[in-house]
Amino acid sequence: MRFLIVSDIHGNRFGLESVLTDAAGEYDTLLCLGDVVGYGAHPNECCQILREQNAISLSGNHDAAALGLISIEWFNPVATAAIEWTRAQLSEANREWLQTLPAQRDWPEHDFQAVHGSLREPWEEYIVGSSLAAATFNLMSRPLCFFGHTHIAACYAEGTPQGKRPEVQGVALPNGGEISLEDDEDDEPGMQWQYLINPGSCGQPRDGNTQARYALFDSEARHIEVRPVDYDCQAARQAILAAGLPKMLGDRLLQGR
Ligand code: ZN
Repeated sequence: MRFLIVSDIHGNRFGLESVLTDAAGEYDTLLCLGDVVGYGAHPNECCQILREQNAISLSGNHDAAALGLISIEWFNPVATAAIEWTRAQLSEANREWLQTLPAQRDWPEHDFQAVHGSLREPWEEYIVGSSLAAATFNLMSRPLCFFGHTHIAACYAEGTPQGKRPEVQGVALPNGGEISLEDDEDDEPGMQWQYLINPGSCGQPRDGNTQARYALFDSEARHIEVRPVDYDCQAARQAILAAGLPKMLGDRLLQGR
């Protein structure tokens, strides 16, 4: 199965549409790792696009906050304003759809898992750095887990040599990259590998690259490609201003921060 994996769309239809155009014909199933809404001006349109594509989606903390499932006490004032605006905008049908989404999922038939934040705290924890990655590696039941929430494209690999302690290496992928699982020829025999991969954000990147990001995962070839694609950041910014959302939510799209 070929999966197109997106995360942290955040109501940015321009980012999502560019990704779908760029990846057209190269995937069978669309998988979203959560945060469909919050920040951007098109929450209903983004839900609609995913529903029309029969996407499998996870729930992110912003989706949960927009539904009132989690408290927004710890959100900053800009995020709070965006959640309150989003709550008022969401159609009943999209609200009901968002309510059906889990924060994590397991695909035994394709040997991978996916979660919005981390397996310790599916809605809350940000996997930034090797020690946080190690905590989720400990909880994984598959060799591969996709995650989002940080808005930073990255790959963590944990190698465990036979009878030894595991070691985690992380690499950021601001300009994309390719990862082939389990094919390292230099491996010592008995080496076990696990991977945690974040495709980056398709609606509000925060790794210094303004391009929308996505991943293609071929579950049979065990191959993943993270790709950047241009989208109309100016149109997304204008829509945020026109909606009366906080200006900085539009400005940050031009900086990728
Ligand atoms: Zn997010």
